[in-house]
Amino acid sequence: MVENLIIIGSGPAGLTAGIYAGRAQLSPLLIAGSAFGGQMALTNEIENYPGFPEAITGQELAQLMQKQAERFGAKVEMDEVTAVDFSVHPFKVKTYTQEYEAKAVIIATGASPRKLGVPGEEEFTGRGVSYCATCDGFFYQNRTVIVVGGGDAAVEEAMFLTKYANKVYLVHRRNRLRAEKVVQERAFKNEKIEWVWDSVVTEIMGEQGVAQVRVKNLKTGEESFLKAEGIFIYIGNVPNTQFLDGQVELNERGYIVTDRQCHTSVPGVFAAGDVQEWVLQQIATAVGSGAMAAMEADKFIAELEGTAYPERTA
Ligand code: NAP
Repeated sequence: MVENLIIIGSGPAGLTAGIYAGRAQLSPLLIAGSAFGGQMALTNEIENYPGFPEAITGQELAQLMQKQAERFGAKVEMDEVTAVDFSVHPFKVKTYTQEYEAKAVIIATGASPRKLGVPGEEEFTGRGVSYCATCDGFFYQNRTVIVVGGGDAAVEEAMFLTKYANKVYLVHRRNRLRAEKVVQERAFKNEKIEWVWDSVVTEIMGEQGVAQVRVKNLKTGEESFLKAEGIFIYIGNVPNTQFLDGQVELNERGYIVTDRQCHTSVPGVFAAGDVQEWVLQQIATAVGSGAMAAMEADKFIAELEGTAYPERTA
């Protein structure tokens, strides 16, 4: 059986593509990947997605989007895509358990946390090194933790961690934050956060788990040690495009190159959300591109089958 449309990824871009493609009566198959909801689901409180004035958790929002997509006929599979073949049509999409064929594909695999790449990071991952405060913050009740980074994610998650931890060191490589002003102002008022400016983490140390971190001041060259049981790394993201194995054009940073209508270098293959090089990596922008990709996929299939467009859309 050839699927009309396979959507790869279950973040806000993929789930929105599922809603729109479902409403276009394509019965899309959405392959969720290893982490349902993507980065959205790792966010504790989402305050800037329209329609939720009191904030909503990322997991709740992901579940609501899934429910909405399924209501319109999207089929959600909890599997992970391992390889694709776009050199043939119908396209081939391989997962751990199945091999599928599809007339069109939307890639919405998002991005994953960037690693620091310092000694101790890999060794202590899961034993003090974390990339998800929502998942692991609870384990640090009355402890000291470190957050690395100066963007929205680092500052917001540092504030979230103060719910549990006694103290949160925020280590940033410059003396100015990149995070939104409103987020900065709130964080500066939080007395549990101690700011460590112009500094980078050079080593994560411990025995069974993390015990301390070596920090270097980039202005003075001075080294110091911060004692902490946990370190949360929020230094941006890298796109999840490895499984594509060069089958669509990527830019020099590994993001998928698309035009404004989400077309990739392969006709019939579209990309949406953070896996594209967006200036603004937000749920709101991911949702917009997911909708766009689904409508373009619908148009592609209609043209392929000689069905008039837009008459066939719901
Ligand atoms: P980001 O905005 O790219 O910020 C990454 C931070 O990490 C920057 O402060 C950067 O320093 C620092 N950094 C990068 N590489 C580093 C390294 N090797 N060592 C030390 N520090 C390093 O990433 P993000 O905070 O994960 O956010 C990603 C996107 O999601 C952004 O578009 C952000 O606005 C969005 N987001 C939004 C919200 C929200 O709206 N509430 C929440 C979370 C994320 P420099 O500043 O010196 O470059």
